[in-house]
Amino acid sequence: MNMDKRVRRIVVAGGGTAGWMAAAAIARTMGRTVEVTLIESEAIGTIGVGESTIPPLVTYNRLLGINEAEFMRATQATFKLGILFDGWRDGTDRYFHSFGTTGKDHWSAGFQHYWLHGLTKGHTRPYDDYCMELVAAMRGKFAHLPDEGMNYAYQLDSGLYAKFLRAMAEKDGTTRVEGRIAHVELDPATGDIAALRLDGDRRVEGDLFLDCTGFRALLIEGALHAGFDDWTHWLPCDAAIAVQTENVRAPVPYTRAMAHDAGWQWRIPLQHRTGNGIVYCSRYLSKDDAQARLLGNVEGRVLTEPNVLRFVTGARRRQWHRNCVAIGLSGGFMEPLESTSIHLIQRAILRLIRMMPLRGVSPADVAEFNDQQHQDMLQIRDFLILHYKATSRDDSPFWRYVREMPVPDSLQQKIDLFRETARVFRRNEELFAENSWVQVMMGQGIAPQSHHPIAEKLSDDELTRLLRLLRDQVERTVSGLPDHAAYVAQYCGATAPLSAAAA
Ligand SMILES: Cc1cc2nc3c(=O)[nH]c(=O)nc-3n(C[C@H](O)[C@H](O)[C@H](O)COP(=O)(O)OP(=O)(O)OC[C@H]3O[C@@H](n4cnc5c(N)ncnc54)[C@H](O)[C@@H]3O)c2cc1C
Repeated sequence: MNMDKRVRRIVVAGGGTAGWMAAAAIARTMGRTVEVTLIESEAIGTIGVGESTIPPLVTYNRLLGINEAEFMRATQATFKLGILFDGWRDGTDRYFHSFGTTGKDHWSAGFQHYWLHGLTKGHTRPYDDYCMELVAAMRGKFAHLPDEGMNYAYQLDSGLYAKFLRAMAEKDGTTRVEGRIAHVELDPATGDIAALRLDGDRRVEGDLFLDCTGFRALLIEGALHAGFDDWTHWLPCDAAIAVQTENVRAPVPYTRAMAHDAGWQWRIPLQHRTGNGIVYCSRYLSKDDAQARLLGNVEGRVLTEPNVLRFVTGARRRQWHRNCVAIGLSGGFMEPLESTSIHLIQRAILRLIRMMPLRGVSPADVAEFNDQQHQDMLQIRDFLILHYKATSRDDSPFWRYVREMPVPDSLQQKIDLFRETARVFRRNEELFAENSWVQVMMGQGIAPQSHHPIAEKLSDDELTRLLRLLRDQVERTVSGLPDHAAYVAQYCGATAPLSAAAA
């Protein structure tokens, strides 16, 4: 690596969500201290999925000074309060992973300990009833609340999102080059990337290269052989088919993840249409059967040809290698189940901006970046595996495989701890907080055998009063909220709304 060369020219290879998110953020944050060039090929196109997000995107947009209503109008976005999981525990169940907090935690013990104690005292109201975002989602309600009192994310059109970011990046000085990257040229002296050669004998030189070429990973793997950790044995789904359909009802503020006998199906309601897709393991379900199953389980007229996607779950071993950083699918992919991919893009970009080299790439920065990025991916990986492992489904070879598979020690330890004590600890800025783990573990059927003794400090009357107070607060707030679709139409409407009555 050349440690003396000033890093001035940043070349972004690829113009999908990852490429344009990176270009827009770097151009806006770094201003004219760097030159950003983005190369993309319209002929190759983008993956065309990736529409459900998680709350940190709200912060990301704020950091970049993006006007929320404008952004939502441009991307036909709706609000998202969480994910409704159908059939993951036993095939007939339902549970919700919401973005909100449930009840009220004590510093020594999360609310689940009080709720579990309540069960032993005959309080039977579901854990869900204590989470405002969850109750609002299930009743199709939404509004911004003072003091960030509503924790939410977005459901958006990925094609329009890339367009929106492109306009922003170009306005901030990013140069876009249309063309196919035919060859990655390495500097024979250092082994770093020197330039990208495009069809038509064009050449784009740079100091730092961002590989945003999606699953192709042209730079980081194709040229630099950074290595890949394959996690298929834990996350065995390896294919998806996506279609868009007409809306037949007013969009709800949540994404659905409906389990089937060899994977699951998503439904993401946007303002102008609904995104649908089936995710499956090709060992247990053929493409034709998957497609038939998807088309048989969508609502509304199908608007697009089925988009068939194949993938290998896992992570690039070195996300930053030499003068190249993998951002987006080139860095790995772990299932769209908890909508974490765009989040990982965001994390990588913000991390890179924090570690932006001045004079040459520092190996210490590279090591730190790779450690942090790897940690993020391991924690998300474990959370995703949990959804498959903790199930009592045994109605198909797929579910029998996942429920029997050995899981990483880090996850097994979390499951054991929760089952025995109802405790969850968040480590190293982990993305998913205690309440996420609790909702999914209980939703998947893990019943804690015990709870923290602090809950028993309350007398029976005090406990009854506390639980009622918390439920009343939720009820009061939710009953004052407007209908989600009406709120979207008024706040950022881009399409004539379907009335909730059409539902
Ligand atoms: C089935 C499925 C569902 C998903 N759902 C979600 C979700 O709900 N939420 C979420 O957060 N994420 C989701 N994701 C992930 C999400 O789609 C991606 O993280 C996101 O779209 C970023 O993709 P990308 O930009 O890395 O790759 P791509 O969209 O594939 O973009 C790659 C870019 O590189 C360009 N390119 C490639 N090769 C060349 C070349 N030789 N020359 C020039 N240009 C080239 C392409 O033209 C394109 O512009 C999903 C992924 C899959 C597979």
